[in-house]
Amino acid sequence: MTINKFIRKLLKLKGLCVTGFKFANRNTVLNLWVKPHKNGCLCPSCGRRGRIVRTMMPRMWRDLPVCGCCVLFWYCPREIQCPTHGRIQEDIPWAESYARITYRFEYAMLIYCQLMTQKAAAKILHIAGSTLSDLLHRSITRIRDGHRIRGLKSVGIDEISYCKGHKYATIVYDLDRSCVVWVGQGKGRETIDIFFNEVLSDYQKSKIKWGCCDMSETYIGAIEDHCLNATLVLDRFHVVKALNKAVDEVRKEQWRNACADERKALKGLRWLLFKHSSNRSKKDSRILNALRKGNRRIHRAWVLSDEFERFWDYKVEWAAKRFLKRWMTTALKSRIEPIRKFVRTIKKHIGRILPFIGSRLTNAIGEGLNRIIKIVKNRASGFRTLHPFTDMIFLTVGDVDIPAQIPAKFRAL
Ligand SMILES: [Zn+2]
Repeated sequence: MTINKFIRKLLKLKGLCVTGFKFANRNTVLNLWVKPHKNGCLCPSCGRRGRIVRTMMPRMWRDLPVCGCCVLFWYCPREIQCPTHGRIQEDIPWAESYARITYRFEYAMLIYCQLMTQKAAAKILHIAGSTLSDLLHRSITRIRDGHRIRGLKSVGIDEISYCKGHKYATIVYDLDRSCVVWVGQGKGRETIDIFFNEVLSDYQKSKIKWGCCDMSETYIGAIEDHCLNATLVLDRFHVVKALNKAVDEVRKEQWRNACADERKALKGLRWLLFKHSSNRSKKDSRILNALRKGNRRIHRAWVLSDEFERFWDYKVEWAAKRFLKRWMTTALKSRIEPIRKFVRTIKKHIGRILPFIGSRLTNAIGEGLNRIIKIVKNRASGFRTLHPFTDMIFLTVGDVDIPAQIPAKFRAL
């Protein structure tokens, strides 16, 4: 076995022959002269062999480092004359045309960036952090280039902050396939209008059946204006959150007005009041029932919020509607202002809350994805600009499986 063949076997190089090697920089860089298998000269579009027109300047590709030693490929690509495609650069089997890195390196970079911070990935791959983020951006842009959103039926909209100082991004989810389809800068109506006007076609908009969002007027308005065939479902968890907030306001108000002795009885209530009835222990129930004598207002608010839970269990819409109307009447009579405010909100959105009974659609998938996105954000300690953040979102929870787009034989680590 010749030494060149040995190197090729050792480094598991595919689709190429090694013609020479040289160590440099105190043995920290291994330069490999390579050439495509069987002398190349193949057309990248049709795969036919073409006549060599000229040989270009030597080019360099970065491959995976081996035992702390950077590996660089060197080769002079040739321009060929294809009978069908004319003058064209020959096919480079180990890398995307005009890329600075090999497929293997690209695949490793994408997988590492999914798992760890870009800083850590850069360290493993022996390149500078800024170079990595640049390469990552190019790679993701190339792979996602020309990608169209397909089969969007249930859409969820949410916002996330990506930097200190109130910088927000709007994220659009495909709730059926649980992935992110779009990220836009800002959180207002203008941002979401860009998505509906520029990204989706009229046909795609007409195909959207369900929309799910929180209670902000911006998103409700946007979905109702653009998706004429869609039924809007307000997210269940946001409704519950609003009710819990109302109950908490009652608790705070009572706490402020209480004297030291009474405060003792109100201690530790904060989380207890929000507990779902299925998670409550006997002790919890005893404390809450004792409130009946201790503090009637908190008790009343809690009982109301506890009763409201039953709404979500209804199976038919008319029964749920009847229940909700009765509940609202009772709640209005309670004379507790935060609760009455909640009732007014419910009344306004009743047409958007009731479809939940039939559809069982929640933004839970969206919130779950949001949690993953937050982990990505925190891992990187925030992002100064939106671009790297968008890259990471598409890489981890995007609608395209990005590492899977690298040719299969180079997908090994
Ligand atoms: Zn061709």
